[in-house]
Amino acid sequence: MLVSEREQLRDNIEAWVAQYGANRSSLIPVMSEVQQKYGHISEYVMQVVADILDIHPVEVDSVVSFYSFLGHKSKGRFIVRLCRTISCEMQEKDRVARQLENDLGIRFGETTPDGHFTLEWASCLGMCDQGPALLVNERIYTHVTPEKVHDILEECRGTFGVYRPNAQTMMNIQDTDTSEMTFTGVDGRDGLDKAMKMKPEGIVDAIGESGLKGRGGAGFPTSLKWKLAAEMDDEQKYVVCNADEGEPGTFKDRVILTDFPDLMFDGMTIASRAIGANKGIVYLRGEYMYLRASLEEKLVKRRQDGLLGSNVSGINGFDFDIEIRMGAGAYVCGEETALIESLEGQRGEPRNRPPFPVNTGFMGHPTIVNNVETFAWVPCILVKGSSWFKKIGTEKSTGLKLFSVSGDCEKQGVFEFPLGISIHDLLKEVGGEDAKAVQVGGAAGYCIPAGQFDRAISFEDVATGGSIIVFGPERDMLAVAKNFMEFFLDESCGQCTPCREGNLRLFEGIEMLEEGRCSMKYLKDLRQLGESMQVACKCGLGQASPCAFLSIIDNFNDEIMGRVSAAC
Ligand code: SF4
Repeated sequence: MLVSEREQLRDNIEAWVAQYGANRSSLIPVMSEVQQKYGHISEYVMQVVADILDIHPVEVDSVVSFYSFLGHKSKGRFIVRLCRTISCEMQEKDRVARQLENDLGIRFGETTPDGHFTLEWASCLGMCDQGPALLVNERIYTHVTPEKVHDILEECRGTFGVYRPNAQTMMNIQDTDTSEMTFTGVDGRDGLDKAMKMKPEGIVDAIGESGLKGRGGAGFPTSLKWKLAAEMDDEQKYVVCNADEGEPGTFKDRVILTDFPDLMFDGMTIASRAIGANKGIVYLRGEYMYLRASLEEKLVKRRQDGLLGSNVSGINGFDFDIEIRMGAGAYVCGEETALIESLEGQRGEPRNRPPFPVNTGFMGHPTIVNNVETFAWVPCILVKGSSWFKKIGTEKSTGLKLFSVSGDCEKQGVFEFPLGISIHDLLKEVGGEDAKAVQVGGAAGYCIPAGQFDRAISFEDVATGGSIIVFGPERDMLAVAKNFMEFFLDESCGQCTPCREGNLRLFEGIEMLEEGRCSMKYLKDLRQLGESMQVACKCGLGQASPCAFLSIIDNFNDEIMGRVSAAC
């Protein structure tokens, strides 16, 4: 690199540091800018960034190596990422993969000799209802066929690098025969206005009376989280929105971020009033980069309308603003403590708990982390009343919930149903009555066979953050288990041995089953391994990773036993 080029590079880095702040938490945004502009992160860049942010270069290196969207190896001008999650696999993504390899003359993981294209797999692009899905830089393509591949690549070649993101995807909001989605009929501003007339503790009480629990899947009571944070005596508190939905089969937050972002921002602002926070952060998954510009526009408008900034909604001393931070391609960052680590410029490795984020969260300050959908329900509850929400659902799982439905059914898309709905009733609504199994909760969830379709989708029975994948009578359930295990192999952060090694052994075991090399005894060993992982892994990712495999060998015994080797 010429001296003048080095000087230019250093100037750019200094400008990005000035934009994001001269502290460690700027590390990932700055590195993402470098990655986007220069295609890779060199030794020189790591040294410069380490000097400016006063971090050891080894630490910078360790962060870069953690995130799949960052890297040392030079990538092409266009990074073509094909989704390989189960929903895309069911929609024949392998044919698209072969066409991409043929057209580009490279394999996955490689870059074309002219440096134009890099071909990669994506774990899940959040387009499960419109697969196969392809992300080219920040541009998303859906319903991709082998025939369309050539046109997409030609479109890239014709842009000479000026290739703008697109945010126009089919939303697939599916109203049911009896109702339309609540979000379409509620003006969140009314909820915000109402909250601003209430005392902070009154807001917490109203949310508590509704029974709202976290819509990301864990189901922790929202009001309790807010109450604990509100009780903390600290000048600085944070409201963090987890927009890192990466669970295979989940895309309902994408729809909220596109069609109802103001409801989410209203909910965050109400939460900040309730706990006494003055800063909000939306942690948006890197795969949704194409949504960032429209979200930033909404934030600008809200500042103009006095809904963000100083004296929000005319309330003296209530200062609150929201910033968007991008993820960099790591599913584990959907876990709240890993997300906070990532915001602080670290590898996204989950923390030991306690302390909990409500006590010691972002930069050591009290922090609430809630999911996009959870925040969006808050203004609706204030507008329609806590008792309205509480009357819907079950005693322990109150209210309505959005579901992302994909797979073998007539209507794929985002549906709103009351919690407590049976799988059978849900399948009737989406036209999937002949299913032989439903995966509830994504790769980390459970595979429910037809004999158990009377079970309820709720926190007390089968819980989900919103992912519903329907499997028709012809699906090979071992292939389904293999797809999920491959996902966890990629996404384990590698911090603890049971998860790092366990997922590899389970994946190899599935390959042995496929090839007829797995004995009955070894299958039992695999079962024991999976059960051990459920207790020995450090975080929810590792604990949940064997669930799909275990439920498939339990519930589809005939399919699995037919592949066990009788030889040993
Ligand atoms: Fe990382 Fe897996 Fe351990 Fe979680 S369980 S900390 S993802 S290695």
